[in-house]
Amino acid sequence: MFAKVIIDQDAKALDREFEYSIPDGLNVICGQRVIVPFGTRFLQGFVVGISENCSFDADKVKPISRTVEDFPVIKKEMLELMFHMADKLHLKLASILRLFLPSEMRTDSVHELIVRFCTLAENFEMPSARAKKQLEIVEFLKENGKQKFSGLSAKFGYAPLSALVKNGTVLVLEEQQNRAPVFDEIENTERKLTPLQQRAVDEISENKTYLLHGVTGSGKTEVYMNLIERQLKKGKTALMLVPEISLTPQVLANFKARFGDNVALIHSGLSAGERFDEWRRIFLCQARVVVGARSAIFSPIEDLGIIIIDEEHEQSYVSESNPRYDTHEIALFRRAYNNCTLVFGSATPSIESYAKAIDGEYQLVEMPVRVNGMEMPKIMVVDMLMEMRQGNNQIFSIPLIYELKNIVEQKKQAMIFINRRGFSSFQRCRQCGYVAKCTDCDVSLVYHRYENRLKCHYCGKRYRALDVCPSCGSTDIKQGAVGTERVVEELKKLFPDVRILRMDNDTTSQKNGHRKILNEFRDAKPGILVGTQMIAKGHDFEDVLLVGIVDADQSLYQSDYRSIERTFQLITQVAGRAGRSSTQGKVILQTYSPRHYVYRFATNYDYKGFFKKEANLRKVTKFPPYARILRILFTHEDEKTVAQECKTCYEKVKAVKEKFTKDFVYLDVMKAPLNKIKNKFRYQIMMRFTLENADEIEKEIFDCVDPKAKSSVFFEVNPNNLS
Ligand code: ADP
Ligand code: ZN
Ligand code: ZN
Repeated sequence: MFAKVIIDQDAKALDREFEYSIPDGLNVICGQRVIVPFGTRFLQGFVVGISENCSFDADKVKPISRTVEDFPVIKKEMLELMFHMADKLHLKLASILRLFLPSEMRTDSVHELIVRFCTLAENFEMPSARAKKQLEIVEFLKENGKQKFSGLSAKFGYAPLSALVKNGTVLVLEEQQNRAPVFDEIENTERKLTPLQQRAVDEISENKTYLLHGVTGSGKTEVYMNLIERQLKKGKTALMLVPEISLTPQVLANFKARFGDNVALIHSGLSAGERFDEWRRIFLCQARVVVGARSAIFSPIEDLGIIIIDEEHEQSYVSESNPRYDTHEIALFRRAYNNCTLVFGSATPSIESYAKAIDGEYQLVEMPVRVNGMEMPKIMVVDMLMEMRQGNNQIFSIPLIYELKNIVEQKKQAMIFINRRGFSSFQRCRQCGYVAKCTDCDVSLVYHRYENRLKCHYCGKRYRALDVCPSCGSTDIKQGAVGTERVVEELKKLFPDVRILRMDNDTTSQKNGHRKILNEFRDAKPGILVGTQMIAKGHDFEDVLLVGIVDADQSLYQSDYRSIERTFQLITQVAGRAGRSSTQGKVILQTYSPRHYVYRFATNYDYKGFFKKEANLRKVTKFPPYARILRILFTHEDEKTVAQECKTCYEKVKAVKEKFTKDFVYLDVMKAPLNKIKNKFRYQIMMRFTLENADEIEKEIFDCVDPKAKSSVFFEVNPNNLS
């Protein structure tokens, strides 16, 4: 018998199936991890196929050396998913397989945690009276039962304990222990569903794909939990994805309280051991509900009854680093494979998903009002140009300061949203125009006053802050656009006695950083929480009655086709944090473009109106979802190489365009907007074509790239980020 093996290495040249013979007596199945001879080395690989025959000279085929485990670590569904992704997304097989296993498991740097316990033997002799410590140990075990070896040894000493083990008085047992993520303990808050929630639960009853459009505060979580319960009762399992930043302690605690040890958790904050043990519990079908961030979509869970993707519009569901994939697509594959239910949920569905719902591809389920019947917060638009004309050059408008004062007087809470961390987006010399830039990346550095450093937000490199211009010596340094640190500083000046907290990547980088800040905020009354998108989602604080959006235009003028959609989503989500309990909330939205249509629709919570306008615009101008954008990104340390290879590819793409002239809307080759990141130069071919022959065009385009190219090459379909 012969096995097809994928070598677990990133090299392009190794990206195919290699054949090995299966030695007599070795039991090998598809999906199993094996060690194989490769050249002069032994490498790890995965068996992806088994056959009677070998496609070339059977005498020259080398045998598999050994298996790593005696069971397949890649289950059948995932193997099929691998081939599907390779075919559709043009990814390397080995890089796809890596998504399916905890990385520390692949590199063999994490193992089961074995804990040693001590108990008394059934028949034992009491130690002699002179061995005082030994007697104490025996007494202790008699009284307290099974104890950890390490604990006993620390308490009574290693020597007496090991003496007891040696003469058989104390037995040592080894047990595998799960390292479990920490959850906050809360009561199970199961509640009677409102009629609207009940209707949604009833409607989501078939093995189809649904889009649940429910306004913020409509109680979607409770609907999800009911759907999951229904599947568990049927003996099925459930997979629920939430954006990483919404996996708040509150959300996790709710799931734990409802589903107990059935829940496994997968997210980036886990330690290697925790991740490995959670993965194992899922693999062994010990956990029947998986809650996690994007990567949890690859969990080896079986018998899926339902997949739920909350906040489905979130950009973070699209992986922008290698390998690139869209979680929606993976979910659709797994839904079809398991013939189960799939729910995409959001208060602001992506234009793509809503268009599919309108076309009948997804079933639309709506929850148009909040659970408690509370009105949506009132959004007031403030024209910052007008503020300036009236002599206010500050970050905060007069109405925002007025409302903040109210909040402070009433001992309530406010959230201030600014989607930029640090103090200011750049530092520039007013005299000569010098801007501090990263030496490794083609970007300006962000000033962080708290550490008094300039930081590159692409590679993390740190630099000394400017107090003198290195180019002309001037001390007249201008600060760029406002960030979270600056907002906090200004608020502290205005409200010196109020608790002001900051939540962004910088303050939450430590384990449980999130939890600490949120717990502190919960008790801060009055209190103000300043933050990036991290504060926009999922939080449910009943005393937050005011939300301030410092710079609503920030996401509006980015140069990609989704920027208006994203602005609408952000405003709706952030506004949704206010007035969730018994008092209507208020939102102050500061902008320099108060008449932009996105603000008109957002302030009226008119999603459908916004969809109509935006969808129509994209139809007319031929943008997704009514056309497809494809970017081929080349990166390499040497600029000449990357430019040349990109150019060569472009010539071939042009030939494809000739063939499909009618379909092509746009094609060009250029430096990427960010020409250099981490010392790698970036060039791109951008194209846009209509949908009729899109799949065929895409296939031909894939073949335009020289497999021997030295550059790394990435294909991005409808990318979120065009930098
Ligand atoms: P969404 O995710 O749709 O924004 P949530 O799921 O966060 O909304 O629910 C909003 C609030 O309503 C939460 O505080 C939640 O505990 C509460 N809630 C949800 N369902 C019910 C119910 N049936 N009865 C009472 N309160 C509920
Ligand atoms: Zn200067
Ligand atoms: Zn950098």
